[in-house]
Amino acid sequence: MDFTNKRALVTGAVGGIGSAIVAQLRAAGAKVAVADRDVTNIMAEAHLPGDLTDPQYASTLPDQAAQALGGLDIVINNAGIMRRGPVTASSDEDFDLSIAVNVKAPFQVCRAAIPLLAANGGGAIVNTASCWGVHPGPDHAVYCMTKAAIASLTKCMGRDHAHQGIRVNAVCPNEVDTPMLRTGFELRGYDSATAIAELDKTVPIGRIAQPEDIAEVVLFLASDHARYMCGELVEVNGGKPVS
Ligand code: NAD
Repeated sequence: MDFTNKRALVTGAVGGIGSAIVAQLRAAGAKVAVADRDVTNIMAEAHLPGDLTDPQYASTLPDQAAQALGGLDIVINNAGIMRRGPVTASSDEDFDLSIAVNVKAPFQVCRAAIPLLAANGGGAIVNTASCWGVHPGPDHAVYCMTKAAIASLTKCMGRDHAHQGIRVNAVCPNEVDTPMLRTGFELRGYDSATAIAELDKTVPIGRIAQPEDIAEVVLFLASDHARYMCGELVEVNGGKPVS
């Protein structure tokens, strides 16, 4: 895939999946603006640190990226947090923070980005939902709810903005070997390497995803190869559907 002359904004850019997306986009020729809380140690053409729960930051990110890169063609809403537990073990803070990062921030980023992309003749937005946003998994009620919300927003935006040449799609990974997954095991008192080795056995293809497996699908959705895809939720699960 060739992203020469393309300008992209990536949120959650220093995380497991985000850093793989940034590396692959840059290797394919894109200029990338990276957004995360601390972006000092990641290579990119523009660095936009901040907290996505700050509405002023989230709402101005696309404009900041366009100014830094000389325009904007691609937006990747990848940042996310995972709070664990059923509803009875979830606090108001879990609920509010999960909504703020996983739903409200991408909503605010998309709302600001869409007019910029439209003025530029179109563009692509890729949101990171989850298999659990399509088929809710156990003991992560608030997380699943937020991922269902961003999946629904993706379908709505995909339909509403196709006429402007803007394609909005989402990638829906199952388990990916990132700090989000590993810290979850460690918080529950498991050795993360052992837990991942056990998890690998549950996936028909023989292993859980590496960040690069997901990033490559994100690049496809952001590329002209996906030029007729609008509002799709693409599950990437190694043959392990959540049911
Ligand atoms: P990660 O924890 O490695 O990365 C998430 C990034 O988001 C971090 O760099 C973090 O700093 C950033 N972030 C979180 N809150 C923020 C805030 N308030 N302001 C700015 N940045 C903030 O996790 P990951 O696994 O790479 O997750 C990336 C995306 O993939 C998330 O949306 C996640 O829900 C989704 N996902 C992950 C998995 C998995 O198994 N790892 C599965 C399905 C979906």
